[in-house]
Amino acid sequence: MKYNREMWEQAVRFHGHACPGLAQGFRVSRAALRLLGVKRAEDEELLAIVENDACGVDAVQALTGCTLGKGNLILDDRGKSVFIFARRDTGTAVRIYFHGGQKPPDPEFMRLRSLVEGGLASPEEVERFEAAKLSRIEGLLTDPEEDLLEWRWVEMELPVRAQLFNSFRCAVCGEKASESRARVRDGQVVCLSCAGSYSRGWQRGT
Ligand SMILES: [Zn+2]
Ligand SMILES: [Zn+2]
Repeated sequence: MKYNREMWEQAVRFHGHACPGLAQGFRVSRAALRLLGVKRAEDEELLAIVENDACGVDAVQALTGCTLGKGNLILDDRGKSVFIFARRDTGTAVRIYFHGGQKPPDPEFMRLRSLVEGGLASPEEVERFEAAKLSRIEGLLTDPEEDLLEWRWVEMELPVRAQLFNSFRCAVCGEKASESRARVRDGQVVCLSCAGSYSRGWQRGT
């Protein structure tokens, strides 16, 4: 199968490097745009819900225009190669599961990868690994779609459009923050960074 080289290069520029994960997101995005009969979203007309936060999500952002900043990219991290795309105008939604084919991973590729990742590969092994990676990417870009992914139409209620919130000035640090993230501490309205440890679990600090 042929692929759109210009679009692929656009995804690579956005992501920073070419990798199998990006190729996966590229195929998923191409399928989604075709199935839904739409082009890259200028605004919020298209919505993506992604079930992982790996490399492929950058291809989704570059190709479909569903981006974190516009609020039409929602991360629902279930650690799965599942991507749901929906059109706001028609309410049509498609769920795509990328399985990557039934071929078992090449043991030589896995061996080279663990050597390279562990910093133990010789220059010759690094070169062989890079060549194997390139051919893996090429395969993911050109294999027939039905060998790589499964899709089905789904019915779902779409999340509301991105909202703009008023901001308030934190009583402790004096910085502005969105009202949707306000907390109360000692009777004062404060930002999350100043709210301290009322909540259990992980705290980012300032
Ligand atoms: Zn990557
Ligand atoms: Zn504060």
